[in-house]
Amino acid sequence: MSDPSVPSGPAVRLVLEAADLVKVYAAGGSGGRSKTALAGVSLSLAEGTCLGVVGESGCGKSTLARLLVGLEQPTAGSVTVLGRPVASYPRAELARRLQLVSQDPFSSLNPRLSAGRALTEVLLVHRRVPGRREAAARVTELLDMVALGSRFTDRLPHEMSGGQAQRVAIARALAAEPEILILDEPTSALDVSVRAGIVNLLTRLRSELSLSYLFISHDMAVIRQLSDRIGVMYQGRFTERGPWQAVLSAPLHPYTRALLTAVPEPQPDGSLLADEPVGAGTPDAGPADVDASAVGSAAVGSADAGAADAGAAAEAGSRVARCPYLPRCPISIERCRTEDPPLEVIVPEHEAACFRAGFSGAGISEAGEAGIRPAVAGDAGAMAEVFVAAWREAYPGVVPEAVLAGLDHGRTARWLAGLIDERAEGETDVAVADERVIGFVRYGTRPPEPVGYVFGLYVHPAQAGRGVGRALLGHAERRLREQGMEVVSLHVFEANERARRLYAKAGYAPDGSTRVEPEYEATEIRLVKALP
Ligand code: SF4
Repeated sequence: MSDPSVPSGPAVRLVLEAADLVKVYAAGGSGGRSKTALAGVSLSLAEGTCLGVVGESGCGKSTLARLLVGLEQPTAGSVTVLGRPVASYPRAELARRLQLVSQDPFSSLNPRLSAGRALTEVLLVHRRVPGRREAAARVTELLDMVALGSRFTDRLPHEMSGGQAQRVAIARALAAEPEILILDEPTSALDVSVRAGIVNLLTRLRSELSLSYLFISHDMAVIRQLSDRIGVMYQGRFTERGPWQAVLSAPLHPYTRALLTAVPEPQPDGSLLADEPVGAGTPDAGPADVDASAVGSAAVGSADAGAADAGAAAEAGSRVARCPYLPRCPISIERCRTEDPPLEVIVPEHEAACFRAGFSGAGISEAGEAGIRPAVAGDAGAMAEVFVAAWREAYPGVVPEAVLAGLDHGRTARWLAGLIDERAEGETDVAVADERVIGFVRYGTRPPEPVGYVFGLYVHPAQAGRGVGRALLGHAERRLREQGMEVVSLHVFEANERARRLYAKAGYAPDGSTRVEPEYEATEIRLVKALP
């Protein structure tokens, strides 16, 4: 079995298996670098179950879907459908075993074919009915099955809403009477109000038709509704996998914990109030902090295995020996810098690829004020990691892409070391958990102004939702109050409504003044709070 997290036994029939799947896309043009979209993925899907695959945009989920349905060939590894290699199936026979439902229903429907004709075509091609007369009755059945009804028979795709088109796309997949559905973000293009209906439909169909699902989504909230087991993907491989209750209630990998907690919102200078839970996941956040030498985006191209040359495959084999999550990890140890953790069973049926699986670190919320101390120059490197990770996680769309791309760890560390040494802008204090810097705040006064300033507040994205941001902000406010300040002030980008809401919760209100950030030419508004 390719997946030790699947319970074994004579009653378990595996319908889909993948073993060590690697997908490398060759570089386009001269001098480009090949991209590894999948870096060794194995999985097993038991009959009648649903494996939910979750991860941020670019983690390789959709590449995995295309390989599983035979739309692309792997650079290495194999896929087995109902005990037979996927490559051994004639295309039509494979389509009767497994079907793909994709994110955009309109792309899978012929704009010139009505729902009825689209379904009839599939029924006849796969010989699921003897003739057109029987097809008409079956079309009605299928449309009833997806809760549309026969009134949709003559409807063209452009006459359907997104939710209706996705229901027709699901009916079209079911027309082939497959045993397995690969569902690749089937709800992500739909309005929130429509998603629940599609999820409920998929839940019902699975039970009524004894289907097996591999359900791919960036949305943990959707994944948890459908899945028996959850696999978390990061940079082209699984970092954690197990029964859904275990993964959600006792996550073993720090990336899973980050997905399950809040996504921090930026302040204009990169500061973060990382306290407000926003649901699940970092949808389409992009491959922040991806090690370009290790794994690239799944969206880098559509070249097939023939185009992935030997050099590209060799690159896949020459990954830097370190944990791919290292740049974002708040609990790393020295070993993580020199070894790549394998996916291993940590507790029965629950795997993780982490040397510190299950360790969450001492939270600042538990440590309280005792976890905050003055920064020393030796903290600058760790603070730069926090700073760069925070900006890249939270600032896309807020500051120009070129600024994010230009962030440099070494330069940032030197800048921070200078601030600490020279106390150029007042104090810099760090939040520490498990002897590791996980956030910092810069604050000070500008005599003779009777106002204290918070110049920057930064929390590592992996620590979001643990009260680190609020603890640092409260600490800065107390220190400023001790220095005689009765009002504290800070700036946020005018466009960043969420950050403004977060600060509003902390008691800050705009005082009506603005300034233009010279580097990005973006307007900032000033928020103030009276200190008690
Ligand atoms: S192996 Fe190390 S760097 Fe990777 S997730 Fe675990 S603790 Fe973090």
